[in-house]
Amino acid sequence: MELGIAGRTAIICAGSKGLGRGCATALAREGVAIFIAARGADALEATAKSIRDEIGARVTTVQADVTTEAGRAALLAACPAPDILVTNAGGPPPGEFTQFSLDDWRRAVEANMITPIALIAATIQGMMGRGFGRVVNITSYTVKMPIGSLELSNGARAGLTGAVASLARRAAPHNVTINNMLPGPFDTDRVRSNWTRAAEVSGRSMEEVAKDSVRSIPARRLGTTEEFGATCAFLCSAHAGFITGQNILLDGGAYPGLM
Ligand code: NAP
Repeated sequence: MELGIAGRTAIICAGSKGLGRGCATALAREGVAIFIAARGADALEATAKSIRDEIGARVTTVQADVTTEAGRAALLAACPAPDILVTNAGGPPPGEFTQFSLDDWRRAVEANMITPIALIAATIQGMMGRGFGRVVNITSYTVKMPIGSLELSNGARAGLTGAVASLARRAAPHNVTINNMLPGPFDTDRVRSNWTRAAEVSGRSMEEVAKDSVRSIPARRLGTTEEFGATCAFLCSAHAGFITGQNILLDGGAYPGLM
């Protein structure tokens, strides 16, 4: 399917690895000029090179910590008027409510709620004025199904979800959509580090933890970053203008509810 976004520009936060990289690659395949940000220069440049070599796409890298004002300013200076904004950052550390200090909560809210809000605030009026815009926030299935060992994530991401819900409706008449993608377990470094921690805490081997985790997913496998990126590209496409304010689960059937 021709997605109708060739020639558009996109910011993809945290785009050097994992889910962000999947989104960046899929958008680049559609002819979108991409601006990818991450903190580590090596992985960032390697990813940009690989996308350029494989697809021949226009890729601009911005070495930045998107959870800081300076990092966001650098990203927006490189691409002040994106047509597409994919918000993303590293997830907060795992753990339970009583283990965390207020500063832990502040850091999680800053990274996974305030950061996307700041980037949306800086770009959405331009999108509305130009009559096209697609915002995709990478959140987590913990928004639908809070997980006891990921309480910082549960809180910060639910906050973001509430914060953009009305804005999505206000932006809709201008052909600007805002949707949230809710990944379940995907095959990335993040999942493996969560497994490692769960193994340490429980005294089991990492292989056992991984096996149990995969067994609990009806699809009996992890999601792939290619699948994630393809869904993101469709949500950013010309065809998805009637999809807005949605929380789209990609979890291999793990969430057991009807809605
Ligand atoms: P990942 O494979 O570990 O990749 C994380 C990416 O984010 C890297 O490119 C990393 O590069 C970049 N990054 C991290 N912090 C950043 C920052 N402050 N500023 C700029 N870039 C930053 O992680 P992932 O699995 O793709 O996860 C992406 C997000 O989805 C996370 O918030 C995660 O919690 C959430 N999530 C993932 C899953 C899953 O199964 N994978 C499930 C639910 C939710 P640098 O380190 O070089 O900056």
